[in-house]
Amino acid sequence: MNDGASGPRSAKAFRRARRTLVGGVDSPVRSFQAVGGTPVFVRSGRGAHLTDVDGRRYLDLVNSWGATILGHAPPAVVRAVRAAATRGLTYGAPTEAEHELGERILAACPAIERIRFVNSGTEAVMTAVRVARGFTGRRKVVKFEGGYHGHSDGLLAKAGSGAATHSLPDSAGVPAAIVGETLVAAYNDLDSVRRLFEIHGEDVAAVVVEPVAGNMGVVPPAPGFLAGLSKIARSSGALTIQDEVITGFRLRNGTVHERLGGRADLVTLGKVIGGGLPVGAVGGSSTVMAVLAPDGPVYQAGTLAGNPVTMAAGATTLDALVPRVFSSLERTAAAMERALAEEAEAAGIPRWCVQRVGSMLTVFFTNGPVRNLAEANRTDRAAYARYFHAMLGAGVYLPPSALETSFASAAMGPRDVATLRTAARRGFAAARARGR
Ligand SMILES: *Cc1c(COP(=O)(O)O)cnc(C)c1O
Repeated sequence: MNDGASGPRSAKAFRRARRTLVGGVDSPVRSFQAVGGTPVFVRSGRGAHLTDVDGRRYLDLVNSWGATILGHAPPAVVRAVRAAATRGLTYGAPTEAEHELGERILAACPAIERIRFVNSGTEAVMTAVRVARGFTGRRKVVKFEGGYHGHSDGLLAKAGSGAATHSLPDSAGVPAAIVGETLVAAYNDLDSVRRLFEIHGEDVAAVVVEPVAGNMGVVPPAPGFLAGLSKIARSSGALTIQDEVITGFRLRNGTVHERLGGRADLVTLGKVIGGGLPVGAVGGSSTVMAVLAPDGPVYQAGTLAGNPVTMAAGATTLDALVPRVFSSLERTAAAMERALAEEAEAAGIPRWCVQRVGSMLTVFFTNGPVRNLAEANRTDRAAYARYFHAMLGAGVYLPPSALETSFASAAMGPRDVATLRTAARRGFAAARARGR
């Protein structure tokens, strides 16, 4: 237990890091800017837990933003990585490890007949969009407000003022002309998609969607949403890109969009399939994927793409994801959802809801259900910051930002649920403290 402030060694590490790294971090959310305070610097992770540089131990519900589905340092994966590394880290030449991981993915993902491995989810979606444009000969891409598809120029856009207007970049340094090719609809709102297609339908190369949204907190697709979306796209000749960078191999053994009524011309994967090492992948029908070099005119390449160490970590992770792992993840996360809901209720929090799909879970400090970004944005961020720091003090590491997803890992069990419950008692009391 501690007071939620990071320890002296973390504070010192952060001061030192900021003299070298921009903002002291390599990915903005890690800086704790959204919740205040000083980030915890991690020394090690094992199973369900992290240990920070001050020796404090945390139940880890970030799990590298979903990548470490088996928990930290799973022995089989570490062994596979060690064995692969011993044979050489990268060659820039083909290895059997690439099609071996690819075969596992094809077997589990009906929409994928051909795959290309890249080094991040960002690259995967960027490549999928390029393939869609190359295949259709069209320019525009439809995405959803609150959907995150990596930080490539064209996808760093949320809504403009009206659904049918061109969108504005979310980031400096992104030319308006590039984001102008991105159209933004509201998640779970097919009418907003229809309006865009009525005006721009003939120019749309692809719709890109998270089949379960995970980057505005967890927001499940409404019944009929994914099916309707693909139908609209298809009738205008646009492709559907299912961005399963989070959901692929997290919610089941394979992709999840087809179980939720969606279809895919292209699928992007990442996170879990790299077993904790940097990875991304784009896959689709052999016809669509054939536009990619060397078979077709759409160029894409990667020095470290498909490197044997990542491929070994990925294949070993997928092999470990037997049905009983998914049922255990479901059990653990359902128990966590119940514990959080009961403690929120008991604490008398005025506005809250817990949303969960499989091992993805978010506490929103607003009345539910949350169906889109506008509703997610109503969450009380100050309450979340107080909750976050109280949870940290009680030994639970949550995403340091209100609109993110917590991830359970297969290393967690009933004892961890109990830890979460005890911590949540403090967390919700803190959230309520200066609540309205
Ligand atoms: C994490 C994520 C990405 C980007 O992946 P990186 O490996 O961080 O580049 C893309 N799409 C979704 C849905 C993600 O959650």
